[in-house]
Amino acid sequence: MQVVIIGSGVAGVTFAEKYRALDADAEITLVTRENDGYYSRPLLSRGFSKDTIEETIVLKPFSALRENRIEVISGVEITAIHRIPRRVEVAGACQEKSLKYDKLIIAQGSAAFVPPPLQPYRELFFCLNSLADLKTLRKFRHGILSQNRRPDWAIIGGGLIGCEVASDLAVSGDSVTLYHAMNRLMERQLAEEDSLSLFENLNHAGVDVLLNQSVHSLADENDKVCVLTEAAAEFDAVIVACGFKPRTGLAEQAGLAVGRGIKVDDCLRTEDEHIYALGDVAELPNGRLYAYIMPIRHQANWLAAHLAGQEHGSWTPPVFSTKAKVHGFEATHPYHL
Ligand SMILES: Cc1cc2nc3c(=O)[nH]c(=O)nc-3n(C[C@H](O)[C@H](O)[C@H](O)COP(=O)(O)OP(=O)(O)OC[C@H]3O[C@@H](n4cnc5c(N)ncnc54)[C@H](O)[C@@H]3O)c2cc1C
Repeated sequence: MQVVIIGSGVAGVTFAEKYRALDADAEITLVTRENDGYYSRPLLSRGFSKDTIEETIVLKPFSALRENRIEVISGVEITAIHRIPRRVEVAGACQEKSLKYDKLIIAQGSAAFVPPPLQPYRELFFCLNSLADLKTLRKFRHGILSQNRRPDWAIIGGGLIGCEVASDLAVSGDSVTLYHAMNRLMERQLAEEDSLSLFENLNHAGVDVLLNQSVHSLADENDKVCVLTEAAAEFDAVIVACGFKPRTGLAEQAGLAVGRGIKVDDCLRTEDEHIYALGDVAELPNGRLYAYIMPIRHQANWLAAHLAGQEHGSWTPPVFSTKAKVHGFEATHPYHL
């Protein structure tokens, strides 16, 4: 059996390792854009306060997967899925330009969501979605620190990632202004009382939290970026942290059903019996995406067992919780997930 996996995040890597453990004969090929190995995406938002993060964030080098007889083709991109001959096209510096599969596992994850009003200004802001993004941001920050200046950031989005990044930059000594469109922070996950205590925590750390702010555009002001709401303010840099967008493009081009994510049944199978999706990119029949590490790991282990003939029911989400990685913050009520 030839199994091709797209993506080397927690979904793709967990699936590959579990499937390897259950089927010694399968040919498993994992194709990824990444070059730095399998890393912890949650730790990205602690990427400023930890000096050694660029090394410690890597959970497993690709060489360890190869030693486990998982072929990893890294630094390349799958550009098309051809369902009839069951092949995927690969672009980049590698020998294989096309790979045949018996089962294709789409574990492409998600990109940062950029709200439409900000899309025309893509060259004026950063996102923090990958290790490559973190390296770019750290380099930019060190450039400012080397001029003996304190970086002055605007973060747009007071959800989980925006609050975590604001907190980490502030404890690292930077100046941070957080713009949030709603009247309280992390309103989707937190009870009102906890939003208030998060607001106080960030304020205490020196973050200027601005609520009810609709950022309608950005402007380039020489070496600064101007954030325009009803007022205008200038910053060294802007980070947009407004949520995530599942990478559904390849599936859509291949004619698979797509909603917010790639639509799968309760066995994580798309409408094509040879193609499965899991992780941030998969939308379950209940309309939900399970975009957290714990349920994704559970999906990946379950799917590997299912394809190895050891699981015959359907995937049932585990009970799971999360926790904002904001320095010194503990919510008193359970998160809404
Ligand atoms: C800053 C941040 C903090 C977070 N904190 C937490 C947390 O505290 N707790 C928690 O549970 N979750 C957290 N999350 C969410 C969690 O990290 C994600 O749900 C999880 O990493 C998704 O895993 P995945 O494998 O589905 O996708 P990803 O990790 O996105 O991996 C997908 C991979 O596929 C590759 N890829 C995509 N398209 C192609 C292509 N065409 N060809 C080749 N390769 C491709 C991508 O480059 C990527 O490496 C956080 C996310 C972020 C961004």
